[in-house]
Amino acid sequence: MAITKRTFDVVVVGAGGAGMRAALQLSQAGLKVAVLSKVFPTRSHTVAAQGGIAASLGNVKEDNWLWHMYDTVKGSDYLGDQDAIEYMCRAAPEVVYELEHFGMPFDRLDNGKIYQRPFGGHMQDYGKAPVDRACAAADRTGHALLHTLYQQNVQANTNFFVEWMALDLIRDEDGDVLGVVAMEIETSEVMILHARATLFATGGAGRIFAASTNAYINTGDGLGMAARAGIPLEDMEFFQFHPTGVYGAGVLITEGVRGEGGYLVNKDGERFMPRYAPTAKDLASRDVVSRAMATEIKEGRGCGPKGDHVLLKLDHLGDDVIRHRLPGIRDIALKFAHVDPAHAPIPVVPTAHYMMGGIPTNYHGQVVAPHRTAPEDVVQGFYAVGECACVSVHGANRLGCNSLLDLIVFGRAAGRQIIEDLKLNPHHKPLPADATDRPLARLARLENQKQGERVAAVGADMRNVMQTHCGVFRFPDLLSAGVDKIREVAERAKNTVINDQSKVFNTARVEALELDNLIEVAQATMIAAAAREESRGAHARDDFPERDDKKWLKHSLFYSEGQRLDYKPVRLKPLTVESFPLKARVY
Ligand SMILES: Cc1cc2nc3c(=O)[nH]c(=O)nc-3n(C[C@H](O)[C@H](O)[C@H](O)COP(=O)(O)OP(=O)(O)OC[C@H]3O[C@@H](n4cnc5c(N)ncnc54)[C@H](O)[C@@H]3O)c2cc1C
Repeated sequence: MAITKRTFDVVVVGAGGAGMRAALQLSQAGLKVAVLSKVFPTRSHTVAAQGGIAASLGNVKEDNWLWHMYDTVKGSDYLGDQDAIEYMCRAAPEVVYELEHFGMPFDRLDNGKIYQRPFGGHMQDYGKAPVDRACAAADRTGHALLHTLYQQNVQANTNFFVEWMALDLIRDEDGDVLGVVAMEIETSEVMILHARATLFATGGAGRIFAASTNAYINTGDGLGMAARAGIPLEDMEFFQFHPTGVYGAGVLITEGVRGEGGYLVNKDGERFMPRYAPTAKDLASRDVVSRAMATEIKEGRGCGPKGDHVLLKLDHLGDDVIRHRLPGIRDIALKFAHVDPAHAPIPVVPTAHYMMGGIPTNYHGQVVAPHRTAPEDVVQGFYAVGECACVSVHGANRLGCNSLLDLIVFGRAAGRQIIEDLKLNPHHKPLPADATDRPLARLARLENQKQGERVAAVGADMRNVMQTHCGVFRFPDLLSAGVDKIREVAERAKNTVINDQSKVFNTARVEALELDNLIEVAQATMIAAAAREESRGAHARDDFPERDDKKWLKHSLFYSEGQRLDYKPVRLKPLTVESFPLKARVY
């Protein structure tokens, strides 16, 4: 079969905030850019971001980027790389104003400045009191951001390949990346996209868990493709559970609700967070609040007939604040929890939300991984930004509103870096003869497999194993059983069948291809979690309740081949300021 080949300067996989911010930079520089997305660009998960984007504008209370940096280092439980954190927090005001000038419709204060609200872990003066740092467009900030970036990209002539799914990376003998092989979802047509630079912005992988705030498309495709091409995955044991997913539905209730004055109560009506975090209370970091909730539930103070959730109270804010500042939350509460939040509290549970780990990069968005021929560890031609990347600004726990910021800051940084790198590489390297072997073999297996298990059944088992064995609290026996179970599921995934009485549904094919990626992510997460014998940020071990900086102040690297773990040091040195020294983390 002859396969079409198209040639671009840059191929961007992913049209969320990260991919579109990078693409904009590149298209504006006159490069020929292709952006691939499984869904229409403005349906990427960024559209669902509610609460805001963090920047120390100081529009409501005094603020500065060093306080933001301190909060981010502390929030990361000291696992974040301080050079990247400095870079991000310093750049935050500038990139937010840039968004404003692109036309992003932020809410306004009475004096006309961008509206800001408090968010978990964002504090004034090195942890003294909460500060309003989240720049917001009501509770639909991601929606405003993504539409703004899409419009800018249309104007800049970015080429969009909508409903095209990247299947695998093309990597040559030197380890350089030369593009991707992709499939049009509707027709199953396969195409080679040959590029001088390939940027992954494929988003998160919340769908490895049964209860998740993530969209169905968040299946960790970028990580799967990278892992299959021999690139390690960094810090995969750190998965954030958001404190307030709607009980039974998983849909997210933004932390902005607590930023506006909402708080959590247990079955006795007690506001319990002050017992766990006397200063920040309900606005402590997410891992802290999720563990407090899990502890309340475990100790018998949960709500409802099963005592398996707690309540988020916001009726005291008044109907007016709720309708103006939190209109989307009101809708979600009415639709998914069947309560009007102006009159009754919303039932909530900690829900899988954000992947701190990902493809290892530096703060220029270049992928860094040891490989065969290059003495330096930058993988030529390969970049990653956004939730699929681990730069690492979030370390062991991400602060709310720092992800949208990460997308914009590092999307722009990667764009700038690619422009520079391409000046040195004006020609396309020739494609290796085996460029399409792996993806075509994967497709052929699906086409030819006549008997086996359904993708949906194997996927459901994977999600349940992750949920039960690798949740908010992690227990040694559950983790080691989890490693065996997830390996069994991975074996079963090799024999799934999508043929239904000789008809092949495209959605079934896509789900099978996604399952390959989910399985890579799930195995990395479970195996790295079982290996890390300490508690840090979102990784809370029942048998090792303390943080252990002597042994574990290091990033993990998981290699799919041989399922091997390696470790590398944390970059504790910022770019221009003094390091923030390690401290116990209290809120
Ligand atoms: C409900 C919710 C609310 C949130 N609220 C906030 C918030 O208020 N503030 C904040 O800072 N963060 C928030 N976050 C986190 C933040 O929104 C995400 O981390 C971020 O939007 C991810 O952006 P991204 O550009 O990396 O990826 P995404 O926006 O997820 O986009 C991924 C893109 O990759 C494409 N893609 C994936 N695989 C393939 C493939 N194989 N081939 C082709 N295309 C592919 C998809 O089609 C999509 O276009 C929230 C997250 C959720 C789930």
